[in-house]
Amino acid sequence: MCGIIGYIGPKVAYPILLTGLKRMEYRGYDSAGISTISIEDNQRAVNIVKKQGKVSNLENKQTELQGNLGLAHTRWATHGQPSELNSHPHFNDDKSLMLVHNGIIENYLTIKRNLEQRGYVFHTQTDTEVLTKLIDYYHKKCKQKLSTTLQNYEQKKDPLELALRAALHDVVGAYGIVLFHKDTNKLYAAKHGSPLVIGIGKNEHFVASDPAAFLDHTRRVLYLEDEDIAIIKENSYELKSLCSHNGECIKRKEDLVDWDITAVEKNGYEHFMLKEIMEQPQTLANCLAGRLDPQFNDIKFTLKLTLNFIKNIKRISIIACGTSSYAAMAGKFLIEKYLRIPTEVEVASEWRYKNPIISKDDLVIVISQSGETADTLAALKLAKQFGAKTFGIINVVGSTMSREVDSGIYIHAGPEICVASTKAFTAQVLCLNFLLIKLGKIRGDLTETQIQRMISNLLNTPELVKQSLNNIEQIKAAANLIKDKQSIFYLGRGINFATAKEGAIKIKEISYIHAEDFASGEMKHGPIALLEKGFPVVTFVNKNDPLYEKNLSSIQEAKARGAYIIVVADHIDSTLQSYADTILQVPKVPDYLQPLINTIPLQLLAYYTAKLRGCEIDQPKNLAKSVTVE
Ligand code: GLU
Repeated sequence: MCGIIGYIGPKVAYPILLTGLKRMEYRGYDSAGISTISIEDNQRAVNIVKKQGKVSNLENKQTELQGNLGLAHTRWATHGQPSELNSHPHFNDDKSLMLVHNGIIENYLTIKRNLEQRGYVFHTQTDTEVLTKLIDYYHKKCKQKLSTTLQNYEQKKDPLELALRAALHDVVGAYGIVLFHKDTNKLYAAKHGSPLVIGIGKNEHFVASDPAAFLDHTRRVLYLEDEDIAIIKENSYELKSLCSHNGECIKRKEDLVDWDITAVEKNGYEHFMLKEIMEQPQTLANCLAGRLDPQFNDIKFTLKLTLNFIKNIKRISIIACGTSSYAAMAGKFLIEKYLRIPTEVEVASEWRYKNPIISKDDLVIVISQSGETADTLAALKLAKQFGAKTFGIINVVGSTMSREVDSGIYIHAGPEICVASTKAFTAQVLCLNFLLIKLGKIRGDLTETQIQRMISNLLNTPELVKQSLNNIEQIKAAANLIKDKQSIFYLGRGINFATAKEGAIKIKEISYIHAEDFASGEMKHGPIALLEKGFPVVTFVNKNDPLYEKNLSSIQEAKARGAYIIVVADHIDSTLQSYADTILQVPKVPDYLQPLINTIPLQLLAYYTAKLRGCEIDQPKNLAKSVTVE
């Protein structure tokens, strides 16, 4: 969601900012803008170009956008429609102050009314213009105050830093902001809720929502934390806290990004989605690397929980949003089946506001690809406030959630660029299996033989996923049959219900075909009314499933109404052939690996259907990658 990049250094800023925006296009946006200034130019004219639509609309603007200091933004509208006017950067009346913002200023209307009383006029519908003008208001006040003060030390203070502090104290909401003023050779950044990371180069600095934006230039990074203010110059940067009034500098450990820029490139694939689906054998191998060893019969990661706590966990709550919540559902099924611990799964936006029952004996698990999902992050904070122990299953290293949880596992899926999640889902399911085994071993719910068997099966997942990627021609044929349909049902039972949900959201997200998921047994309680000749129904049949017969019955019910049946199955026999119109075969695996394996053909089905419909697969309309607003 929304991408920010800022640059200060000896190079021309414009191409760096433009490439940075392109690297963050995956986050989802509706308009884009860049502003630059020449440090050497005595006039210090600020340049600005904003456009509705794609970042490519900002190409070939080198004559308009000169200078070696600048900032850029892709907007995902929250306040005011997507338009050139509402797009960022926003500025004050004389265009001396430029600001880009990711997030939502919740009390923007109150602030707007106050500023209007002081003579400010607003030209856009955005909350960001309000924040810009609030900083401008304080900036003018601080400059005036500092110019009349006699104390020397007071005069050394930076009025813009003081203004930024004052404004951010007034603000309620979430923000990642970067700004500059034409009179200072500095970039200012501040964060509360939305991600920002500084890139530290040689005599140059970057600041962005994602290190992918500047990875061509440096791997040295410093992740900003909530309430941080960074003042960034060509040769140095200072980190301060919004909470400390005397503005002393904070020291924080820098990090090195350990993935390569090729990880955010397509490598010959037509879309990031296809690349990410196809690279799952590798991402799962990365996820497994160093974690499992059949000899040791254990999973290697640190659970910062006491033995006493683990043995007495009263309840597990798994909180997530979207695809991560379907991985969570698979986790719930397995934890309840194998460990017999009552487990709830709830979407974060509901859980955080329902006055949830949380106790000190509860384990709260959060799952998030980005580690920045606003609702999940808020739920995590709530869980901590109530004293629950927290555990994170997260992809993005250094993300806010990864720093907030008591302990957790990185899924090591690498940057996921396509908005629709694929490789993160399978790696999340794998990590839930790690947790299952770890808890089962410590609590004694799983026997050594069971653990041994599970571990050797888990080690096989990259190979099993490779086999599941084999049905391409058949999947393309199925895609061709469903591409013009209005609606599709995804039915699943038990652990496959989670996979049905994931299959349905995938096709909705990228092909815009309406799809609904049901627990197979629920179809007859209503949805069956919609079935008619040729209506596509996607479902699962696993030979060793104790409910094998019941799955066949559900298929029969649909088939009797003329439905077109697509089955993901781990076998092909004459019974299945007589029931199904299309069988997408996957390897036979135990239930704890089924969501991971059964989802692969459904990812491909969604991909090829969207392709046949001519959809924008990597950046579907209205969607954002990392949902950093509520
Ligand atoms: N709330 C701001 C707007 O609507 C920022 C949105 C974003 O994060 O891109 O302009």
